Amino acid sequence: MISVEEALKRVLDYVEVLEPERRSILDCLGQVLAEDVCSTIDIPPLDNSAMDGYALRAKDTRGANESSPRYLVVVGEVAAGSMPTKKVGPGTAIRIMTGAPLPEGADSVVRFEDTDEVSRKSSGGDLSQIGILCQAKKGLNVRCRGEDIARGDLILKAGKVLRPQEIGVLASLGCSNALVIRRPVVAILATGDELIGVDEPLTPGKIHDSNTYTIAAEVSRYGGIPKILGIGRDSVQSLTEKIDEGLDADMLITSGGVSKGDYDMVKDVLAEHGEVGFWTVCMKPGKPLAFGVMKKVEGRRKGKVPHLGLPGNPVSAMITFEQFARPAILKMMGKKILAKPAIRAIIEDDVVNTDGRRLFARVIVTRRGGQYHASPTGPQGSGILTSMAKANGLAVIPESSRGVKAGDMVDVQMLDWGEEQGEVKTVPIVSIVGKSRSGKTVLMEQLIAEFKRRGYKVAALKHSRGGMEIDHPGKDSWRYAQAGSDAVLISSPYKLAFIKSLDHDLDIEEILPLFGPEFDLALVEGFKKSKIPKIEVHRKGLGDDLLCSPEELSVIVTDGSLDIDIPQLPWGDTVAIADFIEKNYVLKSQDSGSLPPRRKRVR
Ligand code: AMP
Ligand code: MG
Repeated sequence: MISVEEALKRVLDYVEVLEPERRSILDCLGQVLAEDVCSTIDIPPLDNSAMDGYALRAKDTRGANESSPRYLVVVGEVAAGSMPTKKVGPGTAIRIMTGAPLPEGADSVVRFEDTDEVSRKSSGGDLSQIGILCQAKKGLNVRCRGEDIARGDLILKAGKVLRPQEIGVLASLGCSNALVIRRPVVAILATGDELIGVDEPLTPGKIHDSNTYTIAAEVSRYGGIPKILGIGRDSVQSLTEKIDEGLDADMLITSGGVSKGDYDMVKDVLAEHGEVGFWTVCMKPGKPLAFGVMKKVEGRRKGKVPHLGLPGNPVSAMITFEQFARPAILKMMGKKILAKPAIRAIIEDDVVNTDGRRLFARVIVTRRGGQYHASPTGPQGSGILTSMAKANGLAVIPESSRGVKAGDMVDVQMLDWGEEQGEVKTVPIVSIVGKSRSGKTVLMEQLIAEFKRRGYKVAALKHSRGGMEIDHPGKDSWRYAQAGSDAVLISSPYKLAFIKSLDHDLDIEEILPLFGPEFDLALVEGFKKSKIPKIEVHRKGLGDDLLCSPEELSVIVTDGSLDIDIPQLPWGDTVAIADFIEKNYVLKSQDSGSLPPRRKRVR
């Protein structure tokens, strides 16, 4: 018996990323871009109006307000899609619609609501003039040429998974097609003498084939193209014929026929025409599982087709598909994130794990009171497909565990969440550690200033063993806490502090998510026992020994030199230290085919 991880590794080692092809952008949703896309145009192509209003010169509105309008002569009108034919000169304005190019001479747009147009119209007044009721600043309501996309900019990086918004960006660049990694064709074969098609009436002893449909839907969900081979009978000849039809696919998935029964022929066919990969995986459901390669028939395209032989029981087929076929399809499509997003949830019922295999229990996950709860769906037989229909998650009980009790925490794979969702943008973190008085806070200050200079949004965290400066006896916020409030917020102009009473000392993993995803880097002082990347400040005046063991450290910042084999940077060289952090943590965390980091161009 092999572990789930080992089985997955063997499957993934065998399948390869497919070749790129050029497709209409309408067909590319969910596919991986195989080329960098740069813009050959500016978007917007011209300065244009963000509002319906009047294009004018800001200086002509100086001092304007409701009681003393500035009157301008209206010299023309321009609608979206046409070009202005007149210029705006001193004392004049051009009526302009949203999206219309800004006429020459104008530097701002005052919206209709800030003019007397409506009252003028209703009183039948003179429309060759307009009263401006507010003072405009240069640039008011003007969208500048190239403000979204500038000609020559790298807009989408190869590796990006195309979502609707990227498809729209491609369209706005004028690209009707894109080079993307091809979708795999996955041939699907159900096996068993008891199976009949969905359209056929049931006769004694028969059941409808459901696996074909579950698997085809799964293949489509993950971006592949299902090729349905139908039902193979439990004979070597029938299976061989059917399998032959599937050998021009990129992958073959069969269901049934892989256990130890007399009629479980798939493994025999596999043994005869292919190479057998493995048979049993330490999981439940889904222990009998075959993976191998089918040799392609002579005369057809050369090579071998990876074959995944799923168990026949409908639940086992789905769960093994999720664990092995899904990641294989995603890998073939060029995706990098293959794991299903998992969450930690409180299990609401006991689940026993009897035979030392990894148990995938079907659960309904709900979120209540800021916490996920997982409730088992009821009978867990591997033939009970409605247990999958009820479930939105699979609670994973490790092989080493005899089970969980209601109230325990479990890991749950979220069946309906996209893989990318698992990669919630995590803020890269680096901790500065060192002996007392080594200058950690000074280095924190220098790095914060340096990263701000580079245009990053920085969060900083300090562990203050001796309590908090703002949480002192006598302060109003302290008195609220004394009176029993569980949380206190203190707000002052432009600042907010949040103090919460806790029943345990928080790990850094629990604290950091509070920063939220908008930061590019979190710098932490202390927390030397945590597993986050650490930089130790070493000062020769404090001795040659280090606070942390070298294998825990990414780099040492020192005013001396240490005879150990890890990178050292000179104390005081903030630029080099920041370069190290930027290269190894900040840029790496942003390197997943997304747009280049938000770093400003430092002039
Ligand atoms: P097997 O792995 O072939 O021994 O099948 C195990 C169980 O799954 C049997 O009860 C089969 O009837 C059932 N089964 C196999 N294939 C399918 C299918 N395509 N659709 C629904 N049930 C199936
Ligand atoms: Mg069978």
